[in-house]
Amino acid sequence: MTNPEPSSLALVPFVSVADMMKIVNQIGVAEMIDGIAQRIEEDFHRWESFDKTPRVAAHSREGVIELMPTSDGETYGFKYVNGHPANMARGFQTVTAFGVLASVATGYPILLSEMTILTALRTAATSAMAAKYLAPKNSKVMAMIGNGAQCEFQALAFQKICGIEEVRLYDIDPEATKKAAENLAGTGISIVSCSSSQDAVTGAQVITTCTADKQYATILTDNMVGTGVHINAIGGDCPGKTELHRDILLRSEIFVEYPPQTRIEGEIQQLDDDHPVTELWRVIADKMPGRTSAEQITLFDSVGFATEDFSALRYLHAQLETTGHYALLDMLADPDDPRDLFGMVARAMPEAV
Ligand code: NAD
Repeated sequence: MTNPEPSSLALVPFVSVADMMKIVNQIGVAEMIDGIAQRIEEDFHRWESFDKTPRVAAHSREGVIELMPTSDGETYGFKYVNGHPANMARGFQTVTAFGVLASVATGYPILLSEMTILTALRTAATSAMAAKYLAPKNSKVMAMIGNGAQCEFQALAFQKICGIEEVRLYDIDPEATKKAAENLAGTGISIVSCSSSQDAVTGAQVITTCTADKQYATILTDNMVGTGVHINAIGGDCPGKTELHRDILLRSEIFVEYPPQTRIEGEIQQLDDDHPVTELWRVIADKMPGRTSAEQITLFDSVGFATEDFSALRYLHAQLETTGHYALLDMLADPDDPRDLFGMVARAMPEAV
């Protein structure tokens, strides 16, 4: 649909998966990640103006279904997202999502969108934005352990925002690595497919772990992490689900999004509740230092926070006018007389025969 004018507040712009793919291809993956990263950074700057709460999670043996709400007082947003590591074996995605932005003034939604693709873009944008502050200066090589759905988005984000030139891929499933290597061919990133995590981290200044397993896994052991690296740990994002050996955490300066959520879901669930961590927003707002020495190991213990989805939805909403890829959904009842909801329904009934 091209630039339709909403005739009523009750018609809600809807971005389907097909529309999202058109928007991403029109803007470009790296450019869109960059635009979202700028919004995320702006919103981290005004962190204190947001309503914040750890996400509301419904856990099951197979996975988790979560709601991630936030508001800046003018706009409200939430994402519905699942995490089901066993889904891939059934031919389903591990992570799928959709989300809403709404006007705080009226309570009416102003955007409904697919967010499976948008989550991959916003997660990559957040990772690279954090690394801009925390990774060693002039980092050129990144190890990427876990080559599933998020992988290529991460690689492109680090190329665009941090200047990464080489990505060293490793996955326990060589098919996943092959898929990622093929998708990243022609992007200008030098791709090295590795046969072990140890091989992947060799010579890397940045290590991204992005695996999916509903358990305390050990994707990185202490001996694999040399001084001075930046670890971008994004796969451990649920109670009982981590990727790093505890000893790595004890050697690292740890940066998190929102401590009340990360203490439950992140790598730091392995540590005491009072183990010191730095909130990322304080680094971005110049209230706390990021990396302070070349020898320091910095760890971004990422779990994904509601404000990042809010920022991504805000970015998307701003693109609707120029890209025109959306439909209008008749999602809200809109009686002529707001109190006559019953009459509206009754008038739509077929005549009795
Ligand atoms: P995916 O299922 O598409 O890919 C995961 C990959 O990890 C698979 O290819 C699998 O073979 C590989 N893997 C599993 N165990 C491994 C191991 N021991 N060593 C190497 N590779 C291994 O999942 P995805 O969508 O790419 O997501 C990956 C993880 O990131 C999930 O746990 C998801 O919940 C999490 N995630 C976090 C955020 C965030 O904001 N922090 C956002 C999105 C996804």
